[in-house]
Amino acid sequence: MTTKRAYVIGHPIGHSRSPLMHGYWISEHGLDARYDKLDVPPRSIGDFFERFRRERFIGANVTIPHKLAVMEHVDRIEDEAMAMGAVNCLYWDGDVLVGGNTDAQGILGSLDESVPGWDADAGQAFVYGAGGAARAAAYAFRNRGLRVAICNRTRQKAKELAAHLGAGVTAHGLEDLPGLLAEADVVINTTSLGMAGQPPNDLDLCALRPGAVVYDAVYTPLETDMVRKARASGHPAVGGLGMLLNQGAEGFRRWFGILPTITSELRQILEDDIRHLTPGA
Ligand code: NAP
Repeated sequence: MTTKRAYVIGHPIGHSRSPLMHGYWISEHGLDARYDKLDVPPRSIGDFFERFRRERFIGANVTIPHKLAVMEHVDRIEDEAMAMGAVNCLYWDGDVLVGGNTDAQGILGSLDESVPGWDADAGQAFVYGAGGAARAAAYAFRNRGLRVAICNRTRQKAKELAAHLGAGVTAHGLEDLPGLLAEADVVINTTSLGMAGQPPNDLDLCALRPGAVVYDAVYTPLETDMVRKARASGHPAVGGLGMLLNQGAEGFRRWFGILPTITSELRQILEDDIRHLTPGA
């Protein structure tokens, strides 16, 4: 039997921790499989799919900038991925190549783990950003019954995402920030601000209600300024590593039929790797 192969594709892709995570689960379960990074520039996406089908890769994760572009290369798109308008996971259903999206499960799974009952009385979510991660966040919160306000530097992108998601989702530019923060029960940063090597995230959390939950999809550094400031002012706050682990587990289940456990050992391995490669993390 030949070794099953899975990949994470993106451009650039050097930063990805997915091979470390999936490699851990592959060896934990004694599978004859490997999971590697593949740098696929946008012009080569068609070649990648040709190879994926010809060599019958078992699956792939998809990251920046391909989450929308891959949608036209699959045979079927999962309902959830269609609703989000983005694909982060490729897998086979028999001979049908499916595009799915596990990012919303990643966000909700990690929030449920870290802040149990966070949604019991929550009515309003604030999503900062309107890119790939924002699609998953807005979809996830709306599906948990929250109203969602999407706020983005480029307001037009927020409008397009809100229109795609439909009722209960509104779009805003940065001028609406203070009021939106004051009304939110849960706030998520899905911009790249605050990530190592990117400009700082200057969201002013002073306006937040007591008890409002703060989530940062960024996980390099492990504790972003936003998470640190939120914790310092008494808010429950969650970093993006749990999202990475939970979305990864759902992808692994689609490829190998096993929902792997997110052990404290695995979390530690990833944290050590991030600290090692991210100064100040
Ligand atoms: P993306 O599609 O490229 O979206 C980037 C977003 O950041 C856009 O809304 C963009 O606004 C905004 N942005 C960038 N620079 C900005 C600036 N200087 N001021 C204000 N807004 C700015 O990226 P993505 O895939 O959604 O990823 C975004 C972040 O989420 C990254 O840090 C990524 O690492 C993280 N992420 C984490 C996970 C996880 O598993 N934890 C998964 C996916 C993504 P414009 O539209 O105005 O350009």
